[in-house]
Parts: sequence; structure tokens; C-alpha cells
Amino acid sequence: MVSVEGEDLAKLTVKELMISSEKVAHVQGGNPLDHALLILIKSGYSAVPVLDATFRLKGIISKSNILDNVMGIERFEMEKLNDKKVEEVMKVDVPYLKESDNFLKGLKSVIDNPFVCVVDDEHSFTGILTRRTILKQVTKNIYTNGANSSKNKQ
Ligand code: AMP
Repeated sequence: MVSVEGEDLAKLTVKELMISSEKVAHVQGGNPLDHALLILIKSGYSAVPVLDATFRLKGIISKSNILDNVMGIERFEMEKLNDKKVEEVMKVDVPYLKESDNFLKGLKSVIDNPFVCVVDDEHSFTGILTRRTILKQVTKNIYTNGANSSKNKQ
């Protein structure tokens, strides 16, 4: 049985699970769309956080945001990649977590999002929590609990 309460998972915090900001690819709101597209393509990610010059979280930009915005009636208007800025097309209403949030809050947050940004009290970006990390942790817990309950039966 997978149980969060009373098990090790319940004790974990977002801080212990997140990918810290130094390892996270990001763009700035004032960057042109072509720069953001380059970062997204080169990193292989479908979306990355958008920060301001002081590292505050502003939103998330995705490949589909960008493509939607350069799509004209008959063709992709690639010249818009240079004309528009990330802050004009990014998603601004994005969920976020605090480092002190518990595992369950992290788990719920990644149900609808492949990753969720983590911020401090000043809304400065400190990292991301990914669905992959959460699933890996749950899997590890299932195996550990399975091994422990087999030992207990012996
Ligand atoms: P994953 O669960 O590792 O597949 O990551 C899910 C999503 O989280 C990716 O598609 C990216 O949008 C984002 N992501 C994961 N790792 C990074 C990173 N190091 N830098 C920027 N974005 C990331």
C-alpha cells in the first residue's frame, strides 16, 4: 500500500526534492521570442521559467506559447520571433511552491503540471519541482516498503 501519512514521504519537503535554480534553464521577460525558442530547443524542454533581472519569478514560456503567437492565418510569421518579447506571450498565472511545503503539496501540484516553480518569501526563484522527481520518489518508497514488509513476514 502507498501511504503518505506516517511514512518517510510525509517527512520530505520540497527543498529536499527540487532541482535548484543554478541547474534550471530559464529566460528573462525582456528576451525576444527567438532567444527563448533557442533555449527551449537546445535544452530539449517544452517549457522553462521566466525570471526578471533580480531573479523573481514572472511566468513560464513554452514552445506552444511561442508557436501559437507566431502562427498567422496562412503561415508561421517567423519575423514575429524577433519583434515580440517573452513577457508578451508567457503564461503569467502559474502555480508555485515554497521550499518548506511538504511532499503531499508537491505531489498535488504536479498532477496538472510537468513542473512547478519554487520561490522564497520575496518571490525569488529558487528552483523547480518536477513530476519526474515526485514519481521517482513514490516508486522508491513502494520498493522500500515492499522490501520492508517482506522482511517483517520472515
Ligand atoms: P522532467 O520531469 O524531467 O521531464 O521535466 C519536466 C519539465 O520540467 C521539462 O519539460 C521542463 O519544462 C522542466 N524542466 C526539468 N528540468 C529542467 C531544467 N534543468 N531546466 C529547465 N526546465 C526543466
